[in-house]
Amino acid sequence: MSAPTSTSAAASPAWPTETSAPGGASTTGLVPKQLKVGGVTAFSATDYPGKLAAVVFVQGCPWRCGYCHNPHLQPRTEHSSLPWTQVLALLRRRVGLIDAVVFSGGEPTMDAALADAMRQVRALGFGVGLHTAGAYPRRLAEVLPLVDWIGLDIKAEPHGYDAVTGIRDSAGAALTSAEIVLASGVAHEFRTTVHPALHSEQDLLALASRLSRLGVKRYALQRFRAIGCANKGLTQVADPDFPSANLVAQVGALFPEFTLRDS
Ligand code: SF4
Repeated sequence: MSAPTSTSAAASPAWPTETSAPGGASTTGLVPKQLKVGGVTAFSATDYPGKLAAVVFVQGCPWRCGYCHNPHLQPRTEHSSLPWTQVLALLRRRVGLIDAVVFSGGEPTMDAALADAMRQVRALGFGVGLHTAGAYPRRLAEVLPLVDWIGLDIKAEPHGYDAVTGIRDSAGAALTSAEIVLASGVAHEFRTTVHPALHSEQDLLALASRLSRLGVKRYALQRFRAIGCANKGLTQVADPDFPSANLVAQVGALFPEFTLRDS
């Protein structure tokens, strides 16, 4: 990802214009010397399609999605609970055993040390994956040239974004990030976690149609999982059959590659 703001929302009237970082979150002032890591999974076969990967969970997220499974990673502590040097040492021991390192979170693009961390990982010979919700388009563009595969969460149609993230004006950054990813040509998966209290089937179809028109090649609908979710308002009205098979078929037909995930 590089030269970010050049891919502004203004280039496409399909998205709302981004005027600032969402929810007042700013990338300024965040200049940690080392990546702030909240946890690591040393081996995963599910976080980077077709690759065996370690997953580095970066601290911090400006949003507060009710369905978040990593709420403990939302705050950034003064000191990383797991020093980056220690993570790097672990990764050195994985050379030859895994293909890639995925930076997840939290919101990894919140961390100004992300690009340096990616360079260090690439120097070890690993591919780089990134999970992001696109809250920081400029940082995303900065690191994209270092990324081999990206999973981008698109949470809702623009009018429904804030209800999912819990933060005002959150749609613009995410949707600008979508354009940046598509313009970059980096291999991608866009995905949307769905819940009947947050989405209507009509809106999900409209969102999928929008993404298809923009050029998304690989899309996934992820059914809400109650496990690990602390928001009782969502867990109590979860519907394992949402969205309907008919809606799933309509959405799937819009993309060359489509996945429905139950977990
Ligand atoms: S954007 Fe991701 S990490 Fe942040 S609150 Fe939402 S689900 Fe959690």
